[in-house]
Amino acid sequence: MKNYRAELTGVFGDPVDGNPTGVTMEAAFADKGLNYRYLTLKVLPEDLEAAVKALSVLHMRGINLTMPHKIKVIPLLQELSRAAEIIGAVNTVVLREDGSLFGENTDGKGFVQALANRGISLEHKRVTLLGAGGAAKAVAVECALAGAVSITIINRTLERARELVDTLKKHTRAEASCEKWEGCHRIPEHTDILINGTSIGLHPDGNQKPDIDYAGITPGMIAADVVFNPADTLFLKEAEKQGAEAVNGLGMLACQAALNFKLWTGVEPSLKVMEDTLRKEFITV
Ligand code: NDP
Repeated sequence: MKNYRAELTGVFGDPVDGNPTGVTMEAAFADKGLNYRYLTLKVLPEDLEAAVKALSVLHMRGINLTMPHKIKVIPLLQELSRAAEIIGAVNTVVLREDGSLFGENTDGKGFVQALANRGISLEHKRVTLLGAGGAAKAVAVECALAGAVSITIINRTLERARELVDTLKKHTRAEASCEKWEGCHRIPEHTDILINGTSIGLHPDGNQKPDIDYAGITPGMIAADVVFNPADTLFLKEAEKQGAEAVNGLGMLACQAALNFKLWTGVEPSLKVMEDTLRKEFITV
């Protein structure tokens, strides 16, 4: 019998209209000949529980969660990955064969994978991270789980950085410390990997860059950005001028989408298809 039913995935968020993930996921499904759909769905905070229940009612494969649902979804799930539990946020839910819901956080895993794709390992590395928000937390936890020996967090709001240090100390083996971001901040000399985990430089503020002493960036250092639009941020351009190797946030975004794809379909997608479609979307915004 011919199958007219597509497998359903998607994203719940509010606001969600400007989320481009559907374009890249649908392109990757088509590329692999999979009859899957990715739906961009507006779900209000008060309707999250009903929407999550609908996953099994509609026999969906799973769902992505964006703001404001990443934390509130946790009590609605039966099992979490270790990283999602430590980070305290879920961006991907998988509906399993037995009907249970599994929560994963692929934000930070996408970051680590993007570095690995460039041949860069976190093992024994000393990381300096600008920012302590949601993306920075996911990146810090995964860097620590991937073997980073130390993580220094520099954040404008010291309290937020302290909380992240506590989380890292409690759940990982990495040494963790923090500094309050004031003025033109000096980068710790021992830094191997410098990460912009803030939203500074994000479109439409592409002319902005983190206020740090760029002269402290040395050749051989890795500079990575979580900001993906534009991909070639001022932060990365300045770091490259100092001789650092730049890793952009587009790779991280594509890698986490690829991890979600694999979780739902069991198939490895084409990272190139995902990155190319994302790049096209961002050129037009
Ligand atoms: P949050 O609002 O949770 O955190 C923002 C962080 O940026 C905080 O640490 C905040 O500091 C800091 N910050 C913002 N503006 C300034 C400023 N002017 N000076 C100093 N610090 C500043 O945001 P998210 O963590 O959710 O998102 C951050 C970025 O990550 C966004 O650009 C987002 O698009 C990107 N992202 C990328 C992903 C990818 O796959 N590439 C995945 C997820 C997010 P403070 O605590 O003091 O307010």
